[in-house]
Amino acid sequence: MRRTADCVIIGGGVVGSSLAYYLAKRGMTNCVVLEASYLSSGATGRCGGGIRQQWSTEPNARLAIESMALWKGLEDELDRDIEFLQGGYLVLGYTDDDVRQFEANVELQRGLGLDVEVLTPTEIRDRAAPGLDTRGVRLATYCSSDGSANPFLTTQAYADAARRLGVEFELFTPVGRVLVEGGRVTGVETERGTVSAPVVVNAAGSHSLLLARTAGIELPITPWRREILVTEPVERFLDPMVISFSFGIYFRQTRHGAVIGGFADPDEQPGFNQTSSLDFLTTMSRKLGRLMPRLASVKIVRQWAGLYDATPDGQPILGHVPEVDGFIQACGFSGHGFMIAPKVSSLLAQLITGERPDLDIDRLNLRRFADGATAGERSVV
Ligand SMILES: Cc1cc2nc3c(=O)[nH]c(=O)nc-3n(C[C@H](O)[C@H](O)[C@H](O)COP(=O)(O)OP(=O)(O)OC[C@H]3O[C@@H](n4cnc5c(N)ncnc54)[C@H](O)[C@@H]3O)c2cc1C
Repeated sequence: MRRTADCVIIGGGVVGSSLAYYLAKRGMTNCVVLEASYLSSGATGRCGGGIRQQWSTEPNARLAIESMALWKGLEDELDRDIEFLQGGYLVLGYTDDDVRQFEANVELQRGLGLDVEVLTPTEIRDRAAPGLDTRGVRLATYCSSDGSANPFLTTQAYADAARRLGVEFELFTPVGRVLVEGGRVTGVETERGTVSAPVVVNAAGSHSLLLARTAGIELPITPWRREILVTEPVERFLDPMVISFSFGIYFRQTRHGAVIGGFADPDEQPGFNQTSSLDFLTTMSRKLGRLMPRLASVKIVRQWAGLYDATPDGQPILGHVPEVDGFIQACGFSGHGFMIAPKVSSLLAQLITGERPDLDIDRLNLRRFADGATAGERSVV
């Protein structure tokens, strides 16, 4: 293991791995990624793989739209099949609140150049999701350029590309402490020894909260369990990912035919619990069968759970912290860190290599919470 590096990245999820790649691509190849377990062992490997540009806040929408531009070229750039598919994304609205929120969303999204349509229930069935039970649906927003990718393949592809450029990945190497001297980060302490570096990036998902504390930084991140399941493969019937915030569900059909999806339990308590529950299995099966009757008797092959690293405004925490020079945050992604990772990581790579990021990420700095930022993203499950 290298004992000194230009940059240490804590966490080998999609964010840490993609950041390693974008840093190396910019010439900073003397980087080490320290991962407590295996690549994608955190939220990344547990996620739904959805890539949606339809967000309710400008920062999230911009990051998602600009990420999509990168997603489109990623298989060529990384020379790997990552099961990227632009099958669209259908957001179902059931309530007056949904209708009001969707109007605001569509105005924002179209203002940012996104081609998003508003569909009636008949149009949903005819054009986007044949067989969907639209009882109670008032309208949907639909963006045909949204899509999905395989989180494991994506993270591995980024990591392999970074390795080819000289980055070192140390797996099963938990970081115990971020080292700080005189208001500057100096490296990290692991069970296998210390790595010295002038820049340390906190990309440890929900555990970022704990790592930041070792450097005296308090992050407003709350871990929340989110459960998810996958069915046996069935004949292709669905192109877009389907989501509803009021009905509380998301699902998509993977390239191999399996349906993957989940919902947020409104009674969930915050914490690091990642166990699976029978309640989730039964409720999710019922919801899936209600919305897509052809799935009513499909077999569930596996269920699991992962953690959202939620912030008060549903937007990530990116960049420097005022108290500790060189300690960069790349965390707080809630339920959308996979889809925005490409742009977030390329922006952070610009910041770390001393260039001005080509999209303003300063407003996503930790400082915003000191000013009382809480209102934020509405389009989360
Ligand atoms: C059920 C579920 C569904 C989701 N669906 C979607 C979706 O459809 N689309 C989407 O965009 N997002 C989705 N998300 C969110 C997405 O998974 C995350 O936002 C994203 O994966 C965050 O990536 P990350 O690299 O920041 O974190 P992680 O993937 O959690 O990676 C952090 C890594 O840090 C490591 N680590 C922790 N502590 C230490 C330590 N002390 N030392 C070293 N390493 C450490 C962990 O082992 C982990 O591998 C979903 C999340 C869940 C839970």
